[in-house]
Amino acid sequence: VLDVVGISKSFGDLEVLRDISFQVQKGETVCVLGPSGSGKSTLLRCINWLERPDAGQIYLNGKEIGITTGGVVMGDRELSKIRTHIGMVFQHFALWPHLTVLQNLMEAPVQVQRRPKAEMREEALALLAKVGLSDKRDVFPAKLSGGQKQRVGIARALAMKPDLLLFDEPTSALDPELVGEVLVVMRELAREGMTMVIVTHEMGFAREAATRVLFLDRGRVVETGSPEQFFSNPETDRARQFIQRYA
Ligand code: ATP
Ligand code: MG
Repeated sequence: VLDVVGISKSFGDLEVLRDISFQVQKGETVCVLGPSGSGKSTLLRCINWLERPDAGQIYLNGKEIGITTGGVVMGDRELSKIRTHIGMVFQHFALWPHLTVLQNLMEAPVQVQRRPKAEMREEALALLAKVGLSDKRDVFPAKLSGGQKQRVGIARALAMKPDLLLFDEPTSALDPELVGEVLVVMRELAREGMTMVIVTHEMGFAREAATRVLFLDRGRVVETGSPEQFFSNPETDRARQFIQRYA
């Protein structure tokens, strides 16, 4: 589904990503781990071209993102169209405050994808049931707990029927007792075979749910492998220190 080839990115003199390459197959859950400032968020933002890479290519379903076949940088319209295939779930939810929960789910599919409203409403209701929030459909985001907001955020991303879901620390803004309800939903998605790239500090989740772990340090992929291999037998000192600190 996703092919990242030699991505590099600098902000001024600061080299944030250096020659990052990896692939994500359909149905995989890839967890991206690494210390603060190692470039995890920048990597996610480069994948959907919210941030323009300095070098390298990103392919979604074999089609290059950001550069047209003619070799020029894509315009906003073309980029937006591609981004509808990539769902994104943020740390701080980013729900539309003036729309109800149900409207939050229906907005982009109806306005951007031009899906029929009645059909979309049925789908949105089914998604709310899936994340356990059927009773909140007519509520505004301000009335929800953090965990509920994030479950709406996930349902909203799913409403676009994305080929790939990107998560940037979806639970790190939550009170500890609310983290579990969000991880339950994410685990269920992993089990159903949703293709996901998840930046997280939840080592227990990564260990159980990831098909593969990517460990980033100072903008490079330092280790990649199965969670069993990474957590029980890390190859580098950096990874060992990181695991001791967080796991
Ligand atoms: P965290 O775990 O704290 O979220 P991260 O791994 O997501 O960290 P990034 O947010 O990708 O790290 O940032 C990597 C580095 O790039 C940091 O040193 C950060 O200060 C810098 N950086 C990120 N975005 C910008 C920007 N728009 N302009 C300048 N520097 C930036
Ligand atoms: Mg980050």
